[in-house]
Amino acid sequence: MQSCDPEIFSAEDFLANPKKFAAFDPPVRLAVIGDPVAHSRSPAFQNEALRFCGIPAQYTKLHVPPEAFSDVLRALPEAGFLGANVTLPHKAAALAGVDVADSYAQASGSVNTILVNGESLVGFNTDGPGLARAIREEFRVDLRDLRVMLLGAGGGAGRGIAVQCAMEGCQRLVLVNRTLDKAQALAQELAPYFHSERLSGPAERIVAIPFEDADLRRELENADILINATSLGMKRTDPPVIPSSLLTANLLVYDTVYAGGSSRLLEDAAAAGARCANGLGMLLHQGALSFEIWFNRSAPLDEMRRALHSNL
Ligand code: NAP
Repeated sequence: MQSCDPEIFSAEDFLANPKKFAAFDPPVRLAVIGDPVAHSRSPAFQNEALRFCGIPAQYTKLHVPPEAFSDVLRALPEAGFLGANVTLPHKAAALAGVDVADSYAQASGSVNTILVNGESLVGFNTDGPGLARAIREEFRVDLRDLRVMLLGAGGGAGRGIAVQCAMEGCQRLVLVNRTLDKAQALAQELAPYFHSERLSGPAERIVAIPFEDADLRRELENADILINATSLGMKRTDPPVIPSSLLTANLLVYDTVYAGGSSRLLEDAAAAGARCANGLGMLLHQGALSFEIWFNRSAPLDEMRRALHSNL
C-alpha cells in the first residue's frame, strides 16, 4: 500500500494509471476537478468528514484542463472513485458528460457533484441548495419567504441561485446583470415558476434590470435580501459592487465571495447596519450536500465547519 499526502494530481497522472488511486492508504476515492484547482478548500473539510465518520477513503484535487475533462470523467469508475466535485471551468461540461442529471442540475445548466453508480455517472448541483441552507442558517429565514435581488444573474453561480429561488418559490426575484440580455433571457425562462395565486402586489414577481443606480435604488425598496453572485469583490482592489449609499439597515446581504473572509460589500453593508454573511456558509453546505449524495447519510457539519475555518 502506498501512503499518500493527497495534495494534487494532474490529468496525465490520473489517466496514465487510474487504478493506482485504489492502492493508496486509505484509497483515494473522491476529488475536486478544476482548472485551476490548487486554491480549493474542499479537500480540507471533506477529508475531515471522512476521517470523523471512519470512512476509509481520501479526497484529493485533480488539475484537469478542458481538453482532458471528458477522458477524466469517463475514467472515474475504473479508478474506483465514489464520485467527484466539479468546479470552474467544467460545470457545464459535466452536465453534458454525465449519463443522467437531477432536475435542478438540468435547470441550472451545470453539475458540481458526480456520483459514480457502477459504470454510470449521475450528476447533481448542490450550489443552489447549499446557498438556501446557508441563508437559513445565517438569517433564520427561508428563500421562499424573501424578496430577492440577485447581482450577477448572468454568471454560472448566479444562474444556479436564480433557479434555486425560482424552484423554492421566493416572493419576488430581481435579476441584475451587467450584460442585461442574459438576465432578461433568464427571467423569461424562469417566469413559469412565478405564475401563482400568491401575488403580493402589483409588482411583477420576476424582473430583469440593468446595473444602473436608479434601477437598483427603485427595486431595492421592494427587496428583503441582496445576494452578490458577481465575481466582483474577490480582489481587494475591485470597485464596489453597488454604491454604499444604496445599502440600508433593513436589508439582509449575502456575498457569495468567500476569499479573504469579508468583502467591501459586506463592510459597506455592516456600516449601514444591515445583517450580512459571506460565502463560506454556501461553500460548506454545498460540500455537505455532496457528502450526503455520496454516502447517503448526514454530513458531520460541525467537524467540516471547523476544518474549513482552520484552513482559511
Ligand atoms: P462567472 O460565471 O464568471 O460570472 C461572473 C458574473 O459577474 C457575471 O454575471 C458577470 O456579468 C459579473 N461581472 C463580472 N465583472 C463584473 C463587473 N465589473 N461589473 C458587474 N458585473 C460583473 O463566475 P461564477 O462562477 O458565477 O462566480 C461568481 C461568484 O460566485 C464568484 O465570486 C465565486 O467566488 C462565487 N461562488 C461562490 C460559491 C460558494 O460556494 N460560496 C460557489 C460558486 C461561486 P456579465 O454576465 O455581464 O459578464
